[in-house]
Amino acid sequence: MKSKLADIILTVFFPRRCAVCGKVIFPDEVVCDNCDIEKHRIPYPKCDKCGQAEGFCNCGADKLSFDHIITPFYYEGDIRTCIKNFKFKGYYDNGKFLAGEMVRALEEEYVFEKPDLIVPVPMTKRRKRRRGFSQTDTLARRISEATGIEFRGDLLRKTRETPPQVGLGAKERRNNLVNAFAVSENENLKGKTIIVCDDTKTTGTTLHECAKALKRAGAKKVIGLTAALTKNDFRGEAY
Ligand SMILES: [Zn+2]
Ligand SMILES: [Zn+2]
Repeated sequence: MKSKLADIILTVFFPRRCAVCGKVIFPDEVVCDNCDIEKHRIPYPKCDKCGQAEGFCNCGADKLSFDHIITPFYYEGDIRTCIKNFKFKGYYDNGKFLAGEMVRALEEEYVFEKPDLIVPVPMTKRRKRRRGFSQTDTLARRISEATGIEFRGDLLRKTRETPPQVGLGAKERRNNLVNAFAVSENENLKGKTIIVCDDTKTTGTTLHECAKALKRAGAKKVIGLTAALTKNDFRGEAY
């Protein structure tokens, strides 16, 4: 039990909330005693191409336009709740927590030259208006602030409205997004290493299509950085 006066005062005026369930917690905590995030952390060693734990990888390396996926968590249980609360309820602390974990994973797993730019997976304007904010934008900005990697919110854009990926089969997901992203005109990305930031990687189609657009504009390397990914159960498609 903590009894420091400062902590108590802070807790009263600026209550910190559990990143999963929203319960008020002490300032130095991230989640409450009832929520567990550690059991959803993807164990090392991982495949540096698709981000799955070693032995659970069938990423079909030659089909993918991105070079690495870096992700701290599986999209399941309390982590799924945490991401959903961030996306759909706008829980501020959750974004902070997820971005912090993404920075940590990037620092631990990405051992190559420093990336030049970080870009969010773009949302269509209509969806952004409906939600009020773009969660990928928020994450990418925070990661940029923490790492000094330049944030470029305008680099990638969506070329057309597409139905949400949720609820589509793997093949439909791929067709749904083919050439749905483009790099802003007159951008020369020659030789650049670029991070594409998203909240979750499911089949990887979104990151694949974003990376394709970036590479068409000259990017040398594309890293997909997400807070969570869907655990590979070997029934999935190649990407
Ligand atoms: Zn909780
Ligand atoms: Zn793999």
